Amino acid sequence: MTESTTIRWEQDETGIVTLVLDDPDQSANTMNQAFRDSLTVITDRLEAAVQADPDSIRGIVFTSAKKTFFAGGDLRDLIRVTPETAQQLLDGGLAIKRDLRRIETLGKPVVAAMNGAALGGGYEIALACHHRVALDAPGSKIGCPEVTLGLLPGGGGVVRTVRLLGIADALLKVLLQGTQYSPQRALENGLVHEVAATHEEMLAKARAFIDANPESRQPWDKPGYRIPGGTPSNPKFAANLPAFPANLRKQTNGAPYPAPRNILAAAVEGSQVDFETAQVIEARYFVELAAGQTSKNMIQAFFFDLQAVNSGANRPKGIEPRPVRRVAVLGAGMMGAGIAYSCARAGIDVVLKDVSAESAAKGKSYSEKLCAKAVSRGRTTQEKADALLARITPTADPQDVAGCDAVIEAVFEDSALKHKVFQEIQHIVEPDALLCSNTSTLPITALAEGVERQVDFVGLHFFSPVDKMPLVEIIKGERTGDEALARAFDLVRQIRKTPIVVNDSRGFFTSRVIGHFINEGVAMVGEGIEPASVEQAAAQAGYPAKVLSLMDELTLTLPRKIRAESKRAVEEAGGTWTEHPADAVIDRMVDEFGRPGRSGGAGFYEYGDDGRRAGLWPGLREHFTRAGAAEAEIPFRDMQERMLFSEALDTVRLLEEGVLTSVADANIGSIFGIGFPGWTGGVLQYINGYEGGLPGFVARARELSERYGERFTPPALLVEKAEKGERFGDA
Ligand code: NAD
Repeated sequence: MTESTTIRWEQDETGIVTLVLDDPDQSANTMNQAFRDSLTVITDRLEAAVQADPDSIRGIVFTSAKKTFFAGGDLRDLIRVTPETAQQLLDGGLAIKRDLRRIETLGKPVVAAMNGAALGGGYEIALACHHRVALDAPGSKIGCPEVTLGLLPGGGGVVRTVRLLGIADALLKVLLQGTQYSPQRALENGLVHEVAATHEEMLAKARAFIDANPESRQPWDKPGYRIPGGTPSNPKFAANLPAFPANLRKQTNGAPYPAPRNILAAAVEGSQVDFETAQVIEARYFVELAAGQTSKNMIQAFFFDLQAVNSGANRPKGIEPRPVRRVAVLGAGMMGAGIAYSCARAGIDVVLKDVSAESAAKGKSYSEKLCAKAVSRGRTTQEKADALLARITPTADPQDVAGCDAVIEAVFEDSALKHKVFQEIQHIVEPDALLCSNTSTLPITALAEGVERQVDFVGLHFFSPVDKMPLVEIIKGERTGDEALARAFDLVRQIRKTPIVVNDSRGFFTSRVIGHFINEGVAMVGEGIEPASVEQAAAQAGYPAKVLSLMDELTLTLPRKIRAESKRAVEEAGGTWTEHPADAVIDRMVDEFGRPGRSGGAGFYEYGDDGRRAGLWPGLREHFTRAGAAEAEIPFRDMQERMLFSEALDTVRLLEEGVLTSVADANIGSIFGIGFPGWTGGVLQYINGYEGGLPGFVARARELSERYGERFTPPALLVEKAEKGERFGDA
């Protein structure tokens, strides 16, 4: 190959070469084969030009013709890497590193004029430059988010951030969290040298650097350079080293996330050797991650599935968006207050209605607290906070909802009350207002019977705490129209959350599936396993909340209520109700021991007078635990897989029943809504990625079914897919 297809060479009369990153086949530049080839061609040309006439080139500027500077690795390529093709990946990565290193050491000043987002590979190109100028454009994010996809920055990102910032700062500020910085914050944290307000200013700053530094070199290529803050060969530094793995364990809770471990190893080992060797070490740790299953799971969920979900793959087509201007939130309790805040934050006017002016005002005070905190932490300005609060009107008067083009109901979980509040306002709001209920369990089709325009009625299931939780589950009732569904979808996007869409069913997708996780944990207590081991199993499986503490938060009376209603519904439909082994434990906890959960001051845990959680209740061991139950009869792996499998298997049943219609929705909903571990890539990707694929998963489910009960029997859809050699998500 003799031509560069993705990097354009533009040379001005003063001897500055601008390398314009511009992949003709893609909307963003990525590290694909064409880029790798182009970079080699360009590097050869630069070297040849300097060799022939050192004065012909004064300096080099990297910039891009796209909206973003450079998007990073090509994830379509990465998700296909297998241990067999890993060598190819290693060679390709090393070639890019070699070329960037050749440019970096050419003896000419090199500047990154970052005209938009520079994440991952994009920031790594910038790191190979002697000077980094970032344009302060909307959406210009800077950093190395690879860890959030189960990877590490394998284009020199670990080697150079360690040399730029020191091991500790590189790990904490850039590598381990994958923080994406705004240009301003990138400047404050030492990731870039300058920020420019306009495109012209950015290029002028790049030229000015070249003028002032005709013989620029990287700090690490200057004589006497030492890594800031020291390296493990310094005893003072080495004394702090054990704290890193300990913090890592805290970050991942012992769950199987290999990326942080490899990042730490690449950073520490690479700091003790020369630059070139460090690059090879980094490449090896990168390839190990890329060839493994976890990065594939995480790329699938956090890149492809998230993109599919947010871009509206599941939104009815051909319906014009109509942004909501004024929303009525009915009920200013915990959920209503959070929903009001999220809507006002997105610029929507909110009428927050409750039974009395005092309770409505109390609901608004939640936003006041969040705003005060955001101002004090510098996350927003007082002006913006005031404007947000001015958008929320608390009231007890139904007439105040006049002019609202959407309604979100969040009163107590009681159908009769929900019917009543909709009747009260349905003729006051706009005649075609979107009507949403935030019920967490009540079937939407039956709730819709309480309103005149059932076609405009839809479930909008938020998660607590609303301001932090990114997901909203949209539930389509039997009579919900496509227009209402599209408007609900758009409303969720308008408030910058992620919408999944499901069909109506008791508990929908999320509430039903999370119930299985909790039931398995509680059942294990009943089987005699040490409660602390049950909690540990959930944490090490990667669940963000321990299972018994989650049960306490939700209160033990809730599953009893849901059980009674579900039992009635099953029996009314002529079916037979099957008890879950968890039921007896919950009944004893409530009836025999009077421990209904956190709100009652006592549950699986004990609580202090201030409501803070203390230790597990010692009575659990006394009344339930049997010596030896865990080690001999129920291995730790089984404990973890019972939780994971019970959720995965029921998700397949929900697909069979037609409640779920999209694999991406299931994966995203499970991670963002109910805390299914992120390393799995979501509840169905967990099945795809299980050892042995679907057949391996089916075999293991059958084993669990024999040992722990029929609820682990694999559903027909799963068995069928396994036999056909398919995966979830295959078109
Ligand atoms: P909550 O008890 O905190 O608040 C309910 C509010 O509704 C109270 O402020 C009450 O005064 C008000 N209310 C009662 N009657 C009213 C009326 N006639 N008009 C206006 N307001 C009235 O309850 P919550 O936890 O906010 O839950 C509200 C709804 O959200 C329920 O349907 C619940 O199932 C659902 N939900 C809850 C969660 C959760 O985690 N708590 C999550 C998702 C969905």
